[in-house]
Amino acid sequence: MAEMFHDDDADLSIIQSKTVAVIGYGSQGHAHALNLRDSGVNVVVGLREGSSSVARASEAGLSVKSVEEAVREGDVVTILAPDQVQAKVYEESIEPNLKPGAALLFAHGFNIHYGYIKPSADHDVIMVAPKGPGHVVRREFVAGRGVPVLVCVEQDASGQAWPLVLSYAKAIGGLRAGAIKTSFREETETDLFGEQNVLCGGLSKLIETGFEVLTEAGYQPEMAYFEVCHEMKMIVDLINEGGISKQRWSCSDTAEYGDYVSGPRVIDPHVKENMKAVLADIQDGTFAKKFMEDQAAGAPEFKKLRAQGEAHPIEATGRQIRALFAWSEDKDKDYHEGSV
Ligand code: NAD
Ligand code: MG
Ligand code: MG
Ligand code: MG
Ligand code: MG
Repeated sequence: MAEMFHDDDADLSIIQSKTVAVIGYGSQGHAHALNLRDSGVNVVVGLREGSSSVARASEAGLSVKSVEEAVREGDVVTILAPDQVQAKVYEESIEPNLKPGAALLFAHGFNIHYGYIKPSADHDVIMVAPKGPGHVVRREFVAGRGVPVLVCVEQDASGQAWPLVLSYAKAIGGLRAGAIKTSFREETETDLFGEQNVLCGGLSKLIETGFEVLTEAGYQPEMAYFEVCHEMKMIVDLINEGGISKQRWSCSDTAEYGDYVSGPRVIDPHVKENMKAVLADIQDGTFAKKFMEDQAAGAPEFKKLRAQGEAHPIEATGRQIRALFAWSEDKDKDYHEGSV
């Protein structure tokens, strides 16, 4: 069983006695900065000159400085820039300005685990990784709840890294739900595995393929969209509430029998072999290298694949269908369909 921590296991006063420099004000950055601030922590947000996030962070009442200035003030420096730019930002703006003994905190282990960032031995290297998107981390905190988090210590220079990481996790609301103790390696490899095989890659491809099979067989795209995409959320909500068994209980016996006999025909043993091959590429750094090399070249492959995804016919059908639902309003103002 994993070791877990709850609110009673952490001392909030540890992080309240420090200044946290939050670098980046995107999905995770805004949630960490605002939750820390509302927990009585001194927060300074570090952003590039001309960043579009400066106005949003200032409007929220936060102190905003350059990355260099923020780092110089930080007892804890939380690196929440996109994974692919962290190494450059670290080398140019963070490392030269770090206070002696400052802790470095991440929300994902990618750069530390694959060695793109190599902090010197005198800094604690810790992680608080919320198991949910940043906008939900903020929403849940405001509602008095919290998103579960993973906590890890890669380098305990101070000998106090564990009390520190738990105090930080408590301040962003993560211990209200509970924290699981893990390592940078386990967090990084399982996070990449989950998003590539199941949550993002597997699911998107499953939906697109189902849509293609139905529409190519002559069924109306609107019908296909409802059957292979729209109902997904309700199914996933049931699984979240009570496991796969609750989903099967709530669906008809017809659906449940079809699940047992046809699920394994679609997700056949090849799929497990494919997942193992994807895992091997994650474990030996092949995926990380491909991603970082493409990003360094201006992301030509990434941009091409993103455009291909947007052009899939299910996206146009989905836009029309979703417009029918007045209540499915976009709660995240910084995301606009068709502009990603
Ligand atoms: P994001 O893309 O939403 O935001 C990144 C922010 O970094 C931008 O808004 C900008 O303010 C800033 N930024 C961009 N380039 C910069 C630069 N060169 N210098 C300084 N600041 C810069 O990123 P995100 O999705 O919040 O990811 C941040 C970290 O959190 C990553 O390590 C990611 O893996 C991790 N994480 C994200 C989520 C999530 O919900 N998106 C969940 C768990 C962990
Ligand atoms: Mg993203
Ligand atoms: Mg991830
Ligand atoms: Mg049905
Ligand atoms: Mg049933």
